[in-house]
Amino acid sequence: MRGFVEKVSVEAAKNWLHGELEKLGPVASEEVSLDAMAGRVLAVDVVSEVNVPEFERAMMDGFAVRASDTEGASPQSPVPLDVLGDAFPGQAFQGKVTVGKCVRAMTGSSLPAGADAVLPVEQTGADGKRVLAQQSITAGKNIGHVGEDIRAGEVVLRTGRVLRPQDVGVLSSIGVGRVSVAGRPRVRIVVTGDELLPAGAKPQADRIVDSNGPMLAALVSRDGGVPLHPGIVPDNRDAILAALRDDAEVILVSGGTSVGQEDHVPTLLDEHGELAIHGVAMRPASPVGMGRLDGRLVFLLPGNPVACLCGYDFFAGAAIRARGGRATAWPYRTVRATLSANLKSPAGRLDYIRMFVKQGRAEPVPKSGASVLSSTTRADGFVVIPAECEGYEAGAEIELFLYD
Ligand code: AMP
Ligand code: MG
Repeated sequence: MRGFVEKVSVEAAKNWLHGELEKLGPVASEEVSLDAMAGRVLAVDVVSEVNVPEFERAMMDGFAVRASDTEGASPQSPVPLDVLGDAFPGQAFQGKVTVGKCVRAMTGSSLPAGADAVLPVEQTGADGKRVLAQQSITAGKNIGHVGEDIRAGEVVLRTGRVLRPQDVGVLSSIGVGRVSVAGRPRVRIVVTGDELLPAGAKPQADRIVDSNGPMLAALVSRDGGVPLHPGIVPDNRDAILAALRDDAEVILVSGGTSVGQEDHVPTLLDEHGELAIHGVAMRPASPVGMGRLDGRLVFLLPGNPVACLCGYDFFAGAAIRARGGRATAWPYRTVRATLSANLKSPAGRLDYIRMFVKQGRAEPVPKSGASVLSSTTRADGFVVIPAECEGYEAGAEIELFLYD
């Protein structure tokens, strides 16, 4: 067994990672159709080639009129108008509205030539075949104008946008059926540990069930990657090396990443690639590591599940988001809360502390070792105490990151 000679700061580890990410850039983009766009990251600026709508249209059911014909109209002194015909959505009226005439128009129909307003049906009466305008109306009323939604030449959505359902609707409205989006990095999850039973099994005797594999798969999906998690890899060098060489853009290794006898990953990476970072001044997750193998980023995540989550969130998550064209920032909302107990943290070490938050008061979760994963399910969020800070006193206002 070899001890950690020196732990690097979280900042230094992040600097190495961000340098690598800048060199690598996002994975190749791909084209997707409308049904697969939601949640994907736009890889281009989308400029509309068309106006939406392309024609003036009725915005109410009523009568397309010349506004000037309705001047002075009221329920007491209605103005009669001859009805020339009908305008239906998708079926325009072909003639022209002239003085004293109108066209029955449905919402969404093209405004007939000559008309400049739509008199709502509620403001009309009937007199045999004629319509009685019972209100005067101003030009432009109840008409949807050309390009009022989107103008031709306008940038509708920009590169980097995580497409919302309504974005997909807008793209469809401008006639875009396929769009270029950032590719999703494939992330191989290499779960090691001879004490592990596969996800879905029941714990028994001296064996525990893999919790890191399913957790990492969910984190990878959250961050826009494609998780590949074929199962547990035995604690032996050949099996682990083969897994590290799987076809993927990012490799996450869980377990066997420290300096114990069964911890093969650091030495493997050192021999076959580059082990750039190993041992970081943080708790939990101090045995975390990072490196490269055949052009892919490799993250060494401690087996202890809280440390695994923390190591992922500090380093691997940012890499997966960046390679998928997303911002590297955490996806967690923050809130401010008042501490109900002292929080201590030694100088030179960053601490990640699970917290309850109730009505603006924050309290550390008891029983919070790196192996106690339920500390993160009972918690509402966490606070990060930076290396240079020795903690906060009860009563201090702190910023918390919320898991939800
Ligand atoms: P290691 O990092 O391999 O030294 O493991 C540290 C601790 O985490 C040990 O108690 C392991 O049994 C436990 N552990 C390792 N991998 C997992 C996993 N995938 N799920 C749950 N616990 C694990
Ligand atoms: Mg192990």
